[in-house]
Amino acid sequence: MGLNRRDVLKVGGLSVVAAAIGGCGSLTQPEAPSKTQKTHMWLMPQPKGNRVVVVGGGFGGLALAKSVRQNNPESEVVVLERRDLFFSCPFSNTYLGELDDVDLGVLTRDYYGPAKEFGYRFVQCEVVGIDRAAKTVSTSLGDIEYDVLVLSPGIAYAYDQQFPQWDASKISRVAQEAPAAMIAGSEHLAFKRQLEQMDDGDVVITVPFGKYRCPPAPYERACMIAHYMEKEGIEGKVIILDAAKEPQAKAGAFKEAFNDLFKDRIVFVGEVKIKEVDVEAKEIVYTTEDESFTLKEHVLPYQVLNLIPQNKANPVIAMAGIETNAWGGAKLKGAGFVSVSDPSVYVVGDCVGHGIPASGQSANWAGKRAGKQIASRLGGKAVDEMVELPYKNANMCYSMVGADPEEAVMVTHEFVYENGMLVGKGFVPKDATSGKFRTTQLGRATREWYRGIMSDMFGV
Ligand SMILES: Cc1cc2nc3c(=O)[nH]c(=O)nc-3n(C[C@H](O)[C@H](O)[C@H](O)COP(=O)(O)OP(=O)(O)OC[C@H]3O[C@@H](n4cnc5c(N)ncnc54)[C@H](O)[C@@H]3O)c2cc1C
Repeated sequence: MGLNRRDVLKVGGLSVVAAAIGGCGSLTQPEAPSKTQKTHMWLMPQPKGNRVVVVGGGFGGLALAKSVRQNNPESEVVVLERRDLFFSCPFSNTYLGELDDVDLGVLTRDYYGPAKEFGYRFVQCEVVGIDRAAKTVSTSLGDIEYDVLVLSPGIAYAYDQQFPQWDASKISRVAQEAPAAMIAGSEHLAFKRQLEQMDDGDVVITVPFGKYRCPPAPYERACMIAHYMEKEGIEGKVIILDAAKEPQAKAGAFKEAFNDLFKDRIVFVGEVKIKEVDVEAKEIVYTTEDESFTLKEHVLPYQVLNLIPQNKANPVIAMAGIETNAWGGAKLKGAGFVSVSDPSVYVVGDCVGHGIPASGQSANWAGKRAGKQIASRLGGKAVDEMVELPYKNANMCYSMVGADPEEAVMVTHEFVYENGMLVGKGFVPKDATSGKFRTTQLGRATREWYRGIMSDMFGV
């Protein structure tokens, strides 16, 4: 009996393994050398055919897992996810605003249902290491081998880059007392609790510099919180402290909504640099520059602070040791989702190095597309990464701005291949009759979009 892949892993040098097993179809050798030999505790038995391991059961990972299974039912797909419960960031601002019928049940799902329905394995565990030479992922429960590895781990916060003067203890204190609520879970609930318990006074939302997840989210959030304060009769304002001069997405549409719907409630302050936060005194210190470039320091007391720090790619990308851009996003080949460093590694979701929006819709689009490409490759078929490009409405992002009646604004993005990467070209429509960006029709479309994408991922 010849050596199987696992035997080789146990007895041989890891570089021998790569040469011996060769991976699937046209996949060539990974580049990274593995320095150490390791005894493995395996998470599950070897697959009969090809195995696709997906890190991250979020918007990108779940779309991809389903797509691979649908397009190549023979392949084994395993989703590794550290959370026990799916919690959605999209639509979560309407939960903060307490729109009709939006409760936690609307935002959460179990992972077992879709795994059963679409035929992939779900394992709740934390990914702690990736050995590309051995094609092995290490997790909190054990190790797992892959033929194809897909990374869709989402974002992490970069408090340390934005506030180098803060130590780890200050960062964790601020993160708890002024939750960013840009990574789904406890932060959203803590933030909601703070809004429910607040006295009269201001809610401050900070918007960072650089690429961050869902650029319209802070402005939609401002509208939903302003509505909540009005509904509850809370005296105070929603103050947006933005690193940019204008809202960083759908600028005209949000400014119109702030002005028409919440003129005395929402205050937008642009070109702000956050200097310090005192969670005991409930004060935030920021600077602005006047026309003569003189810095002015402001001390702003708050009731509730939503400190959204700079974002960066989730550390799982660095764990894989693949080439990245300065933000930490994976550099990808051409218009596809394969890492430039390793043909066996795909990346989708917020961590792609393409110039497309960091949205759930983009992650879903990329997950489906990359899933199809992986399925074709495993089936020995040719893959055309340019198929259907340019792609109209690849991203459609709605933001609820009004509550009574529900009104929303939207942006659509066409994805085109330009200068060696995918790029999103945005368009923010206006209603021809009213001349306004926001409509009740888009309000209904926001709910329909959310229902649609959830049912696409979860089958219910
Ligand atoms: C307030 C808010 C509103 C938004 N609204 C919209 C909207 O209306 N429309 C829209 O299209 N997008 C919206 N988004 C953006 C959307 O949520 C993200 O772009 C999308 O979730 C990205 O998908 P992803 O797969 O890259 O990451 P995620 O969906 O975050 O999934 C990543 C998963 O990886 C897991 N993970 C991370 N590290 C590990 C590890 N080491 N081991 C195991 N698992 C790990 C995480 O737990 C997570 O479940 C919004 C975001 C926010 C914050």
